[in-house]
Amino acid sequence: MQTRRHHLMCCGGAAAAGLFSALTGLAGTARASSLINPCRGTLPTPLREHPLLQRCWQGLDARELWDVHAHLLGTGDSGSGCRIDARMTQWWHPVESLRRKVILAGACVPPDAVSVDQAYVQRLQQLAADFPAGARWLLYAFDEALDGEGQARPEWTSFHVPDRHAARVAAATPQRFAWVCSIHPYREDALARLDAAIRGGAVALKWLPSSMNIDLRDARLRPFYDRLAAGRLPLIIHCGEEKAVPGAGRDELGNPLLARLPLSHGVRVIMAHCASLGDALDLDQARPRLVSAFSLFARLMDEPAWQGLLLGDVSALFQFNRRPEVWHTVLARQDWHGRLLHGSDYPLPGVGPLYRLGGLVKAGLLAESDHAPLEQIREHNPLLFDLALKRVVRWQGQVLRPEVFATRRHFQAVS
Ligand SMILES: [Zn+2]
Repeated sequence: MQTRRHHLMCCGGAAAAGLFSALTGLAGTARASSLINPCRGTLPTPLREHPLLQRCWQGLDARELWDVHAHLLGTGDSGSGCRIDARMTQWWHPVESLRRKVILAGACVPPDAVSVDQAYVQRLQQLAADFPAGARWLLYAFDEALDGEGQARPEWTSFHVPDRHAARVAAATPQRFAWVCSIHPYREDALARLDAAIRGGAVALKWLPSSMNIDLRDARLRPFYDRLAAGRLPLIIHCGEEKAVPGAGRDELGNPLLARLPLSHGVRVIMAHCASLGDALDLDQARPRLVSAFSLFARLMDEPAWQGLLLGDVSALFQFNRRPEVWHTVLARQDWHGRLLHGSDYPLPGVGPLYRLGGLVKAGLLAESDHAPLEQIREHNPLLFDLALKRVVRWQGQVLRPEVFATRRHFQAVS
């Protein structure tokens, strides 16, 4: 309880593990004006030709560059079936409605947009157009939370993006987008839905166990794992702590060690954000104690059995709320880089307070001379900013190697 109160009071800019907790965890203490993305248009030529961006593209093949972590959001005003928790639109819930405003401002959806669903997608298409041909984004569906009996629990569901919406948006711009399905495995027709998604071209499946209420140990998941393994469809799971998330609030289900269940069934698992936020119980000890979730991710990465199966995405890692230990380890562990995947966690790179470049300069990860151009790029294109930032951060001479950005190969079996 105390942790939660502390969190709500102290984190003007949110201790966000990802989009989900940013939606629910952005506290109302920050001044709204400091949170607003200026949403400038296409990158002007001098910025496009800036040496920093030239460095960014050097040694990268845009055709191999798939951003493996990008969210869709919507209110359903175009018939998409998307939903955002009603509390986020009600003036008598001021904190929640500020969060919604901040997130949508980060995605450059104007408050008076005729359609939030469409404005969100149009901005994403515009940002993608600043990238060389070939670069693509994996757009996430996001299923509802269900209880143990498989009943929908709207009060646990902060936002919902149906598979059909993600599939449709990807199909409209196939040269830029692919889609990731999200199917709660407690649904009676979960397997049929998974088969339909695979037939419909989904390139991965996404779960957020702690807020969707998915226990990776549940026996009902086994046929699901078998199907994923047979189809070589990666399972993207969010592990680590989700503070201040009303959702199902089952933090213990986000323990990275539980990923051994799908892994032992031969499923390729992509752990979102490398489980880089919060603590989890070290269930390998006779008397489990709390350790950083990231240290448990690191343990799994080093277990020989999962070498060919376990991957991590580097989205959100350089937000201000990560421990320097995470930054140092990810940059120094060059032996991991073939298993780390570029991802942006869009729209978060456009959400003001989550990135504090001054802090990265102070921590010795970012050159002072890169600070200003990165901020300028961000005002025009948060996706390009996110990529460029990851290309220039360095620790003791070590950078994220180009294979982190050559992610397409991980999806080739199904693409
Ligand atoms: Zn995310």
